[in-house]
Formats: sequence, C-alpha cells, structure tokens
Amino acid sequence: MSDAPGSSEEKEASSPDLQEEPSDSSEDDISGDAEMDFLRSLFSRTLGLGTGEKVLDELTLDGVARYIQSGKCKDIICMVGAGISTSAGIPDFRSPETGLYANLQKYNLPYPQAIFQIDYFKKHPEPFFALAKELYPGQFKPTVCHYFIRMLKDKGLLRRCYSQNIDTLERAAGLQEEDLVEAHGTFYTSHCVSFLCRKEYTLDWMKEKIFSEQVPKCEKCNDLVKPDIVFFGENLPARFFTTMKMDFPRCDLLIIMGTSLQVQPFASLVSKVPKDTPRLLINMEKTGQSDALMGMLGFGGGMDFDSDKAYRDVVYLSTCDDGCMALADLLGWKAELEELVRQEHALIDSKDKKDKAKTANQSAAAEEKPASNKSE
Ligand SMILES: [Zn+2]
Repeated sequence: MSDAPGSSEEKEASSPDLQEEPSDSSEDDISGDAEMDFLRSLFSRTLGLGTGEKVLDELTLDGVARYIQSGKCKDIICMVGAGISTSAGIPDFRSPETGLYANLQKYNLPYPQAIFQIDYFKKHPEPFFALAKELYPGQFKPTVCHYFIRMLKDKGLLRRCYSQNIDTLERAAGLQEEDLVEAHGTFYTSHCVSFLCRKEYTLDWMKEKIFSEQVPKCEKCNDLVKPDIVFFGENLPARFFTTMKMDFPRCDLLIIMGTSLQVQPFASLVSKVPKDTPRLLINMEKTGQSDALMGMLGFGGGMDFDSDKAYRDVVYLSTCDDGCMALADLLGWKAELEELVRQEHALIDSKDKKDKAKTANQSAAAEEKPASNKSE
C-alpha cells in the first residue's frame, strides 16, 4: 500500500481516493489514453460529477441484470442485515420486534439494553450468556441469499460483503475472512477481555461453555472471554473504516439486502459509492430514502426510487431469498444457484447428523435415535 500511516483527519482532508486509487490500478498497466480516461473517471467520481450518465438502461431488476451481464460491472459490494438470516431461523438480536427485550425480565436487568452493554457485561456476564444459550441456533444453515453472494464471489464479481450480522452465516456459505467486513463483529471468534492477554478462542470452545452454563473464563489469565460481537459502548472494528475507504469509491454496483438502514454508521455507507453507481435494494419495504431536510442541507446520498430525478436506485420488494433467486434467474444462474444451495445444505445436514451421533455416543446412549431437528 502507498498509504503512509498518518492521522485519519489528514487523509480526510486530502481526498483518500487520490492516495488509494493508483496503488490498486497499477495492476492494470495504465498508460496514455487509458490513463486520461482513468483520471477523468476518478475526478468525476471524487467530485461527484458522475451524474450525467445513467448507467442502468432501466431502473428495474432486469436493468440491473443487464448491467451485470454487460461486463462493465466488476466490483459489486453487498450490504446485508438481519433480514438475510431470518429464513435461516436466526432471530434479529437487537430488533425490538422480535419480542426479545420483553423476554428479558427474568434476568433482572436494570434496563433491557444493558444485556448488550459492555460495561454491564463486564460486571454481570451471566445474563448475556444465558440469553446466548436460549437463542443459540440449532443449525447454521445459510440461505439462498447467502449463497447468491457466494456465487458473486465465485464469478469474480464480489468486491466485499459488509454485514451487520453476527451469526457467521456468510462464512458458513463459503465467504472468506477477506471477502467480509463484519461491521458488528462476529460470534465466530472470541477473545479474553484483558488488554494484556487477548487470547483467542473458537466458536466450538465458546459453544461448549455456553451450553454447560459456565461463564467463559480465559485459560491463560482467568479473565472473562467475550464473543467478538460489538456491544453497545464498543467501537466498530477498525477494519470497517479502513476497508470502507478502499472499497466504496470503486464500487460498480451496491446491493443492499435485508437491512432497514437504521443503524449508523453502517447505514451511511450507501452514500459512499460514486454518484453514478447503481444501488439495488432487495428488502420487504423501501428504506434509506433521505428526508427533505437532509437533502436541502446538501447531505444527498439517500436512496431515490421514485422521484422524477431517480436515475440509479432500484428497489425489489420481496424476501432476500426470492429477490436473489429472481436476479439469478435473469442472469441465467438460477439452476446453478439452486444446485449450490442443495449441495451445501446436504453437506451441512450430514455433518449435523454425524455431530449428533457423536454426542449420542459420548453420552453412552446405546439406543440409536434418529437425529431430530427443529428446523426440519
Ligand atoms: Zn486472558
């Protein structure tokens, strides 16, 4: 990286794009006309002048599909939230609609949100782990939507997936750590909370502690061990900010799925793509439209699906799975996506059966029981 370490304010002032673009594009062996084109496009993007050209021929899912097929769309960023995991049976941890907070009375919390508050957790970790046990998914089975993102990766079209989810399903679907920005952290790993120690623990280790109802303690220093999810009162992972600055200025298509775009700073990402970059929202309802006041103040960047000035934002109102399947169909990838889901789910099921058989053997139960699963 050409990036010299420096204060982030300094970078902000002298356009981060100008520092970062050349390092990556040097791969493409730019010279002469191509270089002029590159600079023109860079400046128009940086200065927000790219509104003249409408990239999509139509503000519909078909228009998006044609754009992807055109070959001009090489760097797709996905932004995803809890809505992509609901069909996997995973409750939205923080959403008030799940009735979760109403269910917390038994833990004697000073106020419901305390269960996710870092200061409270460090003093009273028990309620959080009791809740984690209660909500622990019976199975980690990624959805059609997760596998659609995996297909984008396999086809070399995925720049990155920015997820608000902590359920590790993106990883279970085959995305690697470098493909992902888990903006609110992940259950996949845990760490000792002691700044001097920070020993890492795996999901299996944590799961065993949660299910045996022991507060997880560090084997090295006996301090508390906490899943790497971001609690209220904690900062987002540094990777969120550094990666965002590299990714968003060169995004060709933003696909936003299953998020109400209510939580900052995640929600603000939609305005970080270049002005001419198309944005597709697949969600049960429209979201992300900026209000009139913010528009007047010049804080543009909100979604605009319907106004006379709409030129790049597309909404597809459906579940994330249906939306992804519809898009896959238009791209001619439907059979491939269905096959990928079928294969991967069969693999997960057979692994689950093995794990359950192992557990049954361990508990010395001689009789063979068919593996039962709530979600089946
Ligand atoms: Zn420790």
